[in-house]
Amino acid sequence: MDNRPRIVVLGRQGAGKGTQCALLAEHLAVPHVSTGDLFRAAVREGSPVGQRVAGIVDGGGLVPDDLVLDVVWEHAACSDLAASGYVLDGFPRTVAQAEAFFGPFPPAASTWTGPGLDVALELEVPVEVVVERISTRRVCPVDGWTSTVEDATVESVPCPDGHPAVQRSDDTAEAVRRRLTLYDTETGPLSPWFAARGELVVVDGNGPPDQVFTRVLRALEPVLDRSAAPT
Ligand code: AMP
Repeated sequence: MDNRPRIVVLGRQGAGKGTQCALLAEHLAVPHVSTGDLFRAAVREGSPVGQRVAGIVDGGGLVPDDLVLDVVWEHAACSDLAASGYVLDGFPRTVAQAEAFFGPFPPAASTWTGPGLDVALELEVPVEVVVERISTRRVCPVDGWTSTVEDATVESVPCPDGHPAVQRSDDTAEAVRRRLTLYDTETGPLSPWFAARGELVVVDGNGPPDQVFTRVLRALEPVLDRSAAPT
């Protein structure tokens, strides 16, 4: 049987997670699941989840673990991520989320029925570089198209469909500082957590997206060969 790849992508805000996840998902023909996109869509729709998380997302805070897990479990079940494989973008962001979704480590319960994981890919980019990338990032709120402006004072650029791509509401200097601090304190501990399970692969995320993607594919080759092998 051909097992579909199951991949988590870690990295600071602005490390290029969204871009690399989209490239990987297309290359491997698996769903790209971004919790940030799920929350932004909920906020746009004004759903009960959206109303609860709007202020948190805009302020650069972390949505409480139980609410994140509800949303991710529901999405995982509806789209049967265990069977389809996946590229997870922005989840997990805390060790508690990882333990709830991938099971405790060392494994305790033989009855665990989570979706499983082949590899956690960490994109390593220095803080100065991500701050610069975020200040020049412009995103289309309609279709998620992302671009970089040369001059950080430029407010918007047209996306290919003609909508204005603008700065994300949580890309303001204050929200970015908060998100980077939270990354170090809450998400950083996931690297040793995945490493202890033998699932962590670290790739240099500095440079143009296509060069980074070449590095990513090279680094993932052994894992992807293993996950595609007949069982
Ligand atoms: P992102 O697009 O991944 O940067 O996510 C945007 C925002 O959504 C984050 O700053 C958080 O407020 C929220 N968010 C997304 N994923 C998670 C998560 N796994 N845990 C907590 N908050 C999250």
